[in-house]
Amino acid sequence: MITIKSTDWRAQRRRMVRKHLQRRGVTNRRILAAMGSVPREAFVPTVVRRRAYADGPLPIGNGQTISQPYMVALMTEETGITRKSRVLEIGTGSGYQTAVLARIALHVWTKERVSQLLAEATDRLRKLGITNVSFMHGDGALGYPSCAPFDAIVVTAAAPFPPPPLLEQLSCDGRLVIPIGDLAAQHLMIYQRTNSGFTARAVTPCRFVPLISPQAFDV
Ligand code: SAH
Repeated sequence: MITIKSTDWRAQRRRMVRKHLQRRGVTNRRILAAMGSVPREAFVPTVVRRRAYADGPLPIGNGQTISQPYMVALMTEETGITRKSRVLEIGTGSGYQTAVLARIALHVWTKERVSQLLAEATDRLRKLGITNVSFMHGDGALGYPSCAPFDAIVVTAAAPFPPPPLLEQLSCDGRLVIPIGDLAAQHLMIYQRTNSGFTARAVTPCRFVPLISPQAFDV
């Protein structure tokens, strides 16, 4: 008989960090430590739990997905955040990326439009003892002006263009990390605020569910 021990998850997590992150060039110690400690198996539905550490996205209900581990690491790396950073995340989903950001930054504000996903994510992070996160329900394309500016804004759903409120809510040097494109083709983009405006840089092709915002665009 095979017994599944809790240490198996830890072994799988270590392997994921080595194989899917370090071997692909993720070197940031704090990101590797965060992803080596957040239990991804607690963020996915029971039916797909045995694939929690596989190299791909997984369904989390309501037609949404938890991103591939490498993409979570890459997006976190591109934010350039430190332990002093104030971060806004749009698209809480399962709360996995939220937990990774929270292990690194000072505080994370996360906004989700599907209330059921938000409630489940809130519960998961509470159970993990992660307390430096504020949860908001609503349209993330509008950002969260009352706590702006943010050192980084991470959007985990794809938009046709960067929503102007999110650009406006960046601090000087702050970065917006966001997939831009449609269902057929998207690129992970980084917009950085400078003294005189914004710079834009494409990082990699990617595939995310759409950012749904009747107020910001017709999707
Ligand atoms: N980062 C998540 C994955 C999110 S999938 C994780 O680690 O699990 C994208 C999420 O964006 C979905 O939960 C979807 O409901 C949410 N979303 C889509 N449009 C949104 C909007 N306008 N405002 C807030 N959340 C939105």
